[in-house]
Amino acid sequence: MAVKVTKFGGSSLASAEQILKMKKIVEADEARKFVVPSAPGKRFKDDVKVTDLLYSLHDAASHFEETEEIYRQIVRRYTDIRDELGLSIKIEDYLEKVYEDIKTGANEDYAASRGEYLNGLLIADLLGYDFIDAADVIFFDENGGYDAKKTLSILPGALKLHERAVVPGFYGSLPNGKIRTFSRGGSDITGSIVARAANADLYENWTDVSGFMMADPRIVEDPKKIDVVTYRELRELAYMGATVLHEDSIFPVLEAAIPINVKNTNDPENSGTMIIPAVEGRGEADGITGIAGKKNFTVITIEKDGMNTEIGFGRKVLTCLEKFGLSFEHMPTSIDTISIVVADVRIRHCIEELIDEIHAVCQPDSVEVSSNMAIIATVGRGMIRQVGVSAKLFAALADSHVNVRMIDQGSSEINIIVGVENDDFEKAVKAIYNALV
Ligand code: ADP
Ligand code: ASP
Ligand code: MG
Repeated sequence: MAVKVTKFGGSSLASAEQILKMKKIVEADEARKFVVPSAPGKRFKDDVKVTDLLYSLHDAASHFEETEEIYRQIVRRYTDIRDELGLSIKIEDYLEKVYEDIKTGANEDYAASRGEYLNGLLIADLLGYDFIDAADVIFFDENGGYDAKKTLSILPGALKLHERAVVPGFYGSLPNGKIRTFSRGGSDITGSIVARAANADLYENWTDVSGFMMADPRIVEDPKKIDVVTYRELRELAYMGATVLHEDSIFPVLEAAIPINVKNTNDPENSGTMIIPAVEGRGEADGITGIAGKKNFTVITIEKDGMNTEIGFGRKVLTCLEKFGLSFEHMPTSIDTISIVVADVRIRHCIEELIDEIHAVCQPDSVEVSSNMAIIATVGRGMIRQVGVSAKLFAALADSHVNVRMIDQGSSEINIIVGVENDDFEKAVKAIYNALV
């Protein structure tokens, strides 16, 4: 029989009403044997996600500040859901244990992970599914990286012992037994890992939009839906800000080529977006797949006449970055310049020392720094075969009076990256969308 792994995001499980939609979806298809829940998310625009409450609780506890009010809000989220669903599970007992652990020094990841853990207990009870604690089946190595080898030596066997089960998202355990979480939005990765381990036919990722849109719906009004997207395009878009799916979610399913279907819990009939290994006939006639972007980057532009003939110049620049433990997002080059794009948060504390180092090691003619930059990626497997996409894109930006500060056409030729000022970000995304879609 076919097996589907279904991951539900925070907004899909934010209240009893939403959880009942989840139940209906799971029960509509026998193949939906494994459910990966997130923690309860926002019920309305200014609501607070349980995960954020748990981070605040941990923060308050570790600074010996008042914790009761935050704890009470967390308790209320879970007891409301339990009561409205008419379940009898004594969730208070689990909550008290979590509170006690946090007050007595449990780590931040442990605190954050309890959002999914507690929700998983409620959901398993509601569905009549077994509960598998992710700490027993998903593993990280001593450096905190996901340990695929260990996980895949244990999780497939564990799943086989259960006809149907709930595996909470977002966390696993370190070799010392302590809890470790993925980065924010990481329940998507858990879903992918479970899909791989179950050798699933499909990984369904249920959220609050009907799939990937060609641009962020918070910026462009009513953007077109992407019906089919490749793993690689998805990764570019997700990493660049289309946060519907965590950018690392494709790795676990990559080798097994399991398709991912992003679907809407509030509109289950909508086919959503299919994410697949590759698309036949790579370059479709019409244009781009999507646009995504993020704010707050610093661009360092290094200029030196004759740079192109100086052996080892690029290496010297990278050595400087390495010295400060910095990774970079992009590195567009031209004959006499190299630009390096790094997230503001990563570079802020060391920018001056880094510039001094570049001067000392690379002897450039000039080094220029611009911060508060936004990066926008226009992605499409079809772009490679098309003339004029970039011409249209730059014309649109010029018409909207957006000053383009940096350009990089990825060597994969599935994206064009532009850097603009933070203030121009929304305007630029709209202009590109209107010109190319
Ligand atoms: P979940 O809680 O289900 O994991 P997320 O909030 O992580 O959901 O992701 C869904 C959200 O991603 C949408 O509500 C939307 O605001 C945002 N988003 C950003 N870019 C896009 C895009 N290109 N297409 C669709 N949604 C997008
Ligand atoms: N609850 C976690 C977060 O808010 C993980 C997730 O939702 O995927 O980041
Ligand atoms: Mg998410």
